[in-house]
Amino acid sequence: MIPERRKTVAVDVGGVRIGGDAPVIVQSMTNTDTADVQSTCDQISLLAEAGSQLVRITVNNHEAAQAVPEIVSRLRAAGNETPIVGDFHYNGHLLLTQYPECARSLSKLRINPGNVGTKHRDANFTQIVEVAIEYDKPVRIGVNWGSLDQRLLTELMDENAHRDEPADAADVMLEALVESALRSAALAEDVGLAHDRIVLSTKVSSVPELHQVYRKLSIRSDYPLHLGLTEAGLGAKGIVATTAGLAPLLMEGIGDTIRVSLTPTPGGDRAEEVRVAQQVLQSLGIRHFEPQVTSCPGCGRTTSTFFQEMAEDITSYIREMMPSWKKSFPGVEQMDVAVMGCVVNGPGESKHANIGISLPGTFEEPKAPVYIDGEHQLTLKGEGLVEDFKEILNDYVVRTYGKA
Ligand code: SF4
Repeated sequence: MIPERRKTVAVDVGGVRIGGDAPVIVQSMTNTDTADVQSTCDQISLLAEAGSQLVRITVNNHEAAQAVPEIVSRLRAAGNETPIVGDFHYNGHLLLTQYPECARSLSKLRINPGNVGTKHRDANFTQIVEVAIEYDKPVRIGVNWGSLDQRLLTELMDENAHRDEPADAADVMLEALVESALRSAALAEDVGLAHDRIVLSTKVSSVPELHQVYRKLSIRSDYPLHLGLTEAGLGAKGIVATTAGLAPLLMEGIGDTIRVSLTPTPGGDRAEEVRVAQQVLQSLGIRHFEPQVTSCPGCGRTTSTFFQEMAEDITSYIREMMPSWKKSFPGVEQMDVAVMGCVVNGPGESKHANIGISLPGTFEEPKAPVYIDGEHQLTLKGEGLVEDFKEILNDYVVRTYGKA
């Protein structure tokens, strides 16, 4: 069952709605030098093609701020309408006032209240909010425990020390994250930013603390929440930690937009973070992006590599077909396909899928029953088995989703 989402206001970000009754939005961030216009455009296109509905770019210096309008205009000229979010730290107030075209071309501004200066913190923050108001841009107030407002943390630690029963220092730190987000949002509204132009996040890199801090934050306002485990790490560790971090919160209805912060391998595919985010939502049944291929891990009953190769082949085939299937067969992304290794769980699992095949394990008779919508429809055998199954799959897609 899809969890009921926490009620929030909806924030429009360049035509993409975050919160309210909008689905959970997948977003990502580039890692190119923003001043390198072509590389940044290329990566934004890659992320958008993978399904990123918003893309954030860093705006860290004059060259980057000057490049932003050109990046957005090249994307639009190429037909890419993905809203672009500017990520500002330290000098955002200066860049946004010095380069108004940068502010105008962005769809959202991200402000980290821990990184807007210490001496003139509120004045710098106010200056960014005033730019957001002038150009009618929403903001994300993105707090991060790696750059938490130290003045606020000290204030809360002092208050805590004077209590009869002081709380744990770790709890005070989490409270400081929440307070930083909420006090900054209150200040932004005092300056004149509308309530429905604010998204909040309080990111940490520890899974249990992520759960605690977002649960706290979720009950203290109705701003939409950007959810993510910051600095999730590399490869399997990053994917597992992110899933462990996001899944329980999403199942409680917390989180209106998600980002997966994987460390890519050098030269690796940046769009992996988009696919992982989609897979998290799809595995939880919250959104569907492409047909789900269920395959068993294989065991001593599948001593040849045929079954692994077939599962991989079918997954690639579906991915290859999806751009055209999506256009002609709406709803196809909800399809479940099973490719199973032997008779033990093969028929059962295949019956649960829309379409499934149970391959023969070692020493089993060389034939593969195919199940469609829970019923055994036919049995495949021989060398052309994979191609035959693809044909059946295609036929199923046309018959089932073509009706719509
Ligand atoms: S379905 Fe068969 S091959 Fe696959 S893991 Fe189970 S027992 Fe092994």
